[in-house]
Amino acid sequence: MKTQARVVVIGGGAIGVSVAYHLAKYGWQDVVLIEKHELTSGSTWMAAGNCSFFHGNYYCTQVNMKSIAIYKQLEDETGQSVGWHTTGSIRTADNPGRMEELGYVYSMNRCLGLNVDWVTTEQIKELHPLMNVEGLTAGLYWPDDGDVDPNGITMAMSIGAKRHGAEINTHTQVTGIDRTASNEWLVHTDKGDITCEYVVNAAGLWGPEVAAMVGLEIPSIAGEHSHILFEAIDAVVDRDKYLPLVRDPDRSIYIRQEMDSLILGLYEGKVKQWNPKGVPWDYAQTELQPDIDHIADFIEHGIHRFPIMGETGFKHVTVGPITYTPNGDPLVGPAYPLRNFFHACGYSFGITQAGGIGHYLAGWIMNGEPEIDLWSMDSRRYGSYANWAYNHEKIEDTYPRLYAVITWNDWRDAARPNRTAPIYAHQKQAGAVFGDYYGWECPNYFCDGSSDTRENPGWKRNNTFKYVAAECRHVMNSVGLLDLSRFAKTRISGPGAEAWLNRMTCQKVPAADGRIALSPMLDHNGNFKSDMTITRIKAGEYFCVTASVGKRHDQHWLMENLPGDGSVCMEDMTYRQGCFVLAGPRSREVLAKAGYGDVSNEAFPFGTCREIYVGRTKCRVNRMNYVGELGYEIFHPIESQIAVYEALVSAGGEFDLKMFGMYAMDSMRLEKGYMAWKSEMNVHHTPLETNAAWTVKLDKDFIGRAGLEKQKKDGISRQLVCLVCTAEDADPWGYNPIFNGEQIVGMTSSGGYGHRVEKSIALGYVPPEFTAPGTKLEVEVLGKKLPAEVVSMPLYDPKNERMKA
Ligand SMILES: Cc1cc2nc3c(=O)[nH]c(=O)nc-3n(C[C@H](O)[C@H](O)[C@H](O)COP(=O)(O)OP(=O)(O)OC[C@H]3O[C@@H](n4cnc5c(N)ncnc54)[C@H](O)[C@@H]3O)c2cc1C
Repeated sequence: MKTQARVVVIGGGAIGVSVAYHLAKYGWQDVVLIEKHELTSGSTWMAAGNCSFFHGNYYCTQVNMKSIAIYKQLEDETGQSVGWHTTGSIRTADNPGRMEELGYVYSMNRCLGLNVDWVTTEQIKELHPLMNVEGLTAGLYWPDDGDVDPNGITMAMSIGAKRHGAEINTHTQVTGIDRTASNEWLVHTDKGDITCEYVVNAAGLWGPEVAAMVGLEIPSIAGEHSHILFEAIDAVVDRDKYLPLVRDPDRSIYIRQEMDSLILGLYEGKVKQWNPKGVPWDYAQTELQPDIDHIADFIEHGIHRFPIMGETGFKHVTVGPITYTPNGDPLVGPAYPLRNFFHACGYSFGITQAGGIGHYLAGWIMNGEPEIDLWSMDSRRYGSYANWAYNHEKIEDTYPRLYAVITWNDWRDAARPNRTAPIYAHQKQAGAVFGDYYGWECPNYFCDGSSDTRENPGWKRNNTFKYVAAECRHVMNSVGLLDLSRFAKTRISGPGAEAWLNRMTCQKVPAADGRIALSPMLDHNGNFKSDMTITRIKAGEYFCVTASVGKRHDQHWLMENLPGDGSVCMEDMTYRQGCFVLAGPRSREVLAKAGYGDVSNEAFPFGTCREIYVGRTKCRVNRMNYVGELGYEIFHPIESQIAVYEALVSAGGEFDLKMFGMYAMDSMRLEKGYMAWKSEMNVHHTPLETNAAWTVKLDKDFIGRAGLEKQKKDGISRQLVCLVCTAEDADPWGYNPIFNGEQIVGMTSSGGYGHRVEKSIALGYVPPEFTAPGTKLEVEVLGKKLPAEVVSMPLYDPKNERMKA
């Protein structure tokens, strides 16, 4: 075994082998993989091998697509059979909610150019004659899906990895990881130590144990999963064509052909966590004991859908452990707060995703940036709240719902609350219906009395609509209060702070005390990294605010780029400072009455920051907001939040001050064309393609400048536009294809209903020739094309007169 490597990949399951294979294939020398037993001996060897394009997330779907493309050519490349069968797959629907979900997936898949179509129950029956289609409404059909031999793909990739120079060590266990004095990693194994630059944690079931070796806690717990292979079925033997994989999500089952029979897999109503406190190190290649009583109801579901199963005996029941994370998606990418340590674990559908993630993660490690936006699987989407206990409670809810209707607004109660601002009880009293954002309880909307205290999740307008409308109108006409204490806040100080921040953002860091600047951070290619606002407190001291969910992501990026000479100091202020947004035409009067100090337009102009007493609390108040009204962001010590709140409420009484929620904020920001992080601002877009091009100052040096200079020279190929859609009951949301006639010319990045302008709005990227206001296009929502027109941005208060009033 080598003692020095560039990268050590821990784990020889499908994921680790794929990462090693791709790193070696793309040219890295000294790639070493360590596996404590045989390759595949964790979850991989037991997997059913289903490989489909389906995923509820646009970017995860791309990972699946990449896997399938890779598996299809692996045998030719390596000579190792991977058992790929193109079978096609069907996902059925038996209720309106599921039909909406399929509509969402259909439209999202069309953005990706996937071969997918609707199928009627008659067509389903034709595709799978053994199926009872009773009660079904319709389905989606992907003709190019298939299945693969999990052992075959892993072995093929290991052959490929070795051919490209990687070293694969089996029967070698990683026992600890340290940092050397020269900042490399020292990986200890039972066969000796290896010094390396990068470590990848692909330890599957043991991912948390390997993370703990470097002091990290990651939310990943094993649960038992069962699938049943039936005895040979004549009707299958007699066929000359493979039967498609069927997912009947409303019965929480999948069925596919295996040789001369069928496999039935199921996600039962209650997860059986397996060794939740930690999988024993010596576990390898062992099936778990079947518990037929536990899965009996779901076997019944299978027999209902495939009556032939009722007449056929079980050949084998496979039960094996799979890792589950709080939302079922994996934990990938740079491990906060470490340098050169990556996760590639937490996989529940790791065969489907191994090929793709090996490709994308290898690119991320080698180039420093991911080729596609992998935020939906980035381990930093979770903060410290997502610990073992959180996940232990959360997966009790997630596992039985792995096949539940996918929506964006199904706010589950499980494992909540975690983080609450002091104002929480007051919000509750005022009728708040909360969502959880990065562990924080935040009101989505406020309802009156006891009705509508739960949102009806779905892709169509729902019972929240009228409340959000009222909140937006109230902010427009009077004054509203929104708690945004969850903002990620970072104080940057020191003699080198200004120069360093100027390198970190394309914007010029404000040069005068009390000035505020929207300051996007970009990656090395010039694409959006983070949405940051910088306030200069005084020379050498800056207050930086970024999106709450991006806290670890953004602060990690800042930390990784800090100069080593101590000239810049970084301090996390997130949990010490609260933030209230006070917005609406009467907000100045409320602030004037609640506090001490001159808040007139002359004394406190737009885009500046002042220290003001709000009641007895000294606050730092920014005159700016994300909803496009006269308004303020009031940052305050978190321990004084109730004092600040009471001062505002008591002053706000005569102006009818009311709280509003996240949904109203989102509706209003769409009307203003304000971009959202990871929607408009993601790794696929630069500021030059957006209405924030003015923040780019090419006359200074900053990370990403070369990319922007090139783009400026070459010209942009896409531009952000605002579209007004003729929607009836479902607004665009994001990942909707934008059509010019029959041709898809772009995709929405977000959308919703603008209650102040009373229009259905989408933001999205299209080629420059479609950006002129008045251009007629179509936006496909839930599988239905809606007429849409490009309008000049912003739709609401285009001259910013209200904000600057
Ligand atoms: C019954 C069943 C059916 C399934 N069906 C499907 C399916 O149809 N489609 C699908 O996509 N997925 C399926 N899965 C899930 C899939 O198997 C997993 O998501 C996938 O195998 C995870 O791969 P992995 O490489 O991350 O982890 P693992 O396969 O668990 O591999 C991790 C490896 O790391 C090694 N390791 C851990 N710690 C150390 C250490 N300290 N030192 C050295 N080595 C270490 C382990 O020995 C192990 O080999 C199924 C799983 C089961 C159990």
